[in-house]
Amino acid sequence: PHVRPTGEPAEIDPDELDPDALKVVLRLHQHGHQAYMVGGCVRDLLLGRKPKDFDIATSATPNEVRGIFRNCRLIGRRFRLAHVYFKGGKIIEVSTFRANPTELEPAANANGNGEDEGESSGEDLLITHDNVFGTAQQDARRRDFTINGLFYDVAEGRVIDYVRGRRDLDERFIRTIGDPEIRMREDPVRILRAVRFAAKLEFDIESRTYAAMEGAVEDLPRCAPARLLEETFRLIRGGVSAPALKLLDALDALKILLPPVDAYLKQYGKEGEKTFYAFANAMDRRVTAGEPLDDAILLAMLLMPISRSPAPEEAEAQAQEGGGGRPSVSQVVEDLLAGFVQSARLPRRIAERCRMLLLAQRTLSGERRRRSAAFKRHPLFNEALTVFEMTVEATGEGREQLEAWKAGEVPPPRAGATDEGP
Ligand code: ATP
Ligand code: MG
Repeated sequence: PHVRPTGEPAEIDPDELDPDALKVVLRLHQHGHQAYMVGGCVRDLLLGRKPKDFDIATSATPNEVRGIFRNCRLIGRRFRLAHVYFKGGKIIEVSTFRANPTELEPAANANGNGEDEGESSGEDLLITHDNVFGTAQQDARRRDFTINGLFYDVAEGRVIDYVRGRRDLDERFIRTIGDPEIRMREDPVRILRAVRFAAKLEFDIESRTYAAMEGAVEDLPRCAPARLLEETFRLIRGGVSAPALKLLDALDALKILLPPVDAYLKQYGKEGEKTFYAFANAMDRRVTAGEPLDDAILLAMLLMPISRSPAPEEAEAQAQEGGGGRPSVSQVVEDLLAGFVQSARLPRRIAERCRMLLLAQRTLSGERRRRSAAFKRHPLFNEALTVFEMTVEATGEGREQLEAWKAGEVPPPRAGATDEGP
């Protein structure tokens, strides 16, 4: 049954497929449904990279999927997906073929078996509802980029390409499926996704796709804040935050996604850029070396260069008063995070941890002389030390303090250390 047509290159080694995902596909076949591996896993296998997870697309409806697998739960309000659970907490995501609602003709809509389609105005392309079931081909076409639109047929051992994704994989291009203007307008979060894939895979962004991204940046604030925040974190978690943030800066999207970073880069110019990317590179090196960093640490690293520099008014005041007293760091950190929480709905838990990590840096660097011995028992001591260690890598300052803390000692405070602060 697994005979491959002769002459065709063996593209995906069956041993690379996830055995549980394979089981799910074969079970769906046994019940008479179409089922393929899709999206990121096909892309990554063809590139010789290890897929993060194996997603499945099928002709079976969510309810049919639930009827077939005992260890299965339906999730999602916007569109329903099935999660099939395996040993060790592993989840295989199974989604029903869907069509892009904005691409459907009214006649096609009428026999779609999704829920009601709601209003569709010609002007407003933003997708607010996309639970229209469709064919495999429609499901490929509703995906974001050609390299993410490939299907893998495990029974035939062959890649199904409805969207010219193979060509773009070979030529290393990020290109939207369909008209880039429309695809970016209908979901501007795709800007962040394009940037993430370009940075992670070291692909170029095709020029019309890039132009459409530039045009859609102004629509970013209309996206659900939770999605924006999640895609922003996915960008910086991947070990390629420096190139990704440079791309976002070039698109002038940082003013919407990371306002404090945007303000810092605009205010401090070339020097600020150098400092900021030194921090980003230090954190990318860690992640790339296989040490995942939690979101509060990642965010703290992005804010470190900013929290170390005086805010503009304070710098001026300082200059006028002849340098009498630095602005309180805690105030700077509060202001930074307030901007975030407001614009990006940062969860309080992350903001709180980030605040503590940033404040702890002054004790670690010896700028603040306070309860240093007790400080070692701080619940976030290890995380704070990780941030400090990366700061030392980024700036070359503070090596002695770092060695002392790591040896379990309390380094002496630096000359001019203050007692102030929490
Ligand atoms: P990664 O390996 O980083 O998870 P991925 O390609 O699997 O990359 P996901 O965010 O997990 O990315 O999404 C899975 C698939 O769903 C994508 O490959 C793409 O086909 C489709 N997809 C995800 N988000 C969108 C979107 N905003 N618009 C259209 N299609 C999308
Ligand atoms: Mg994925």
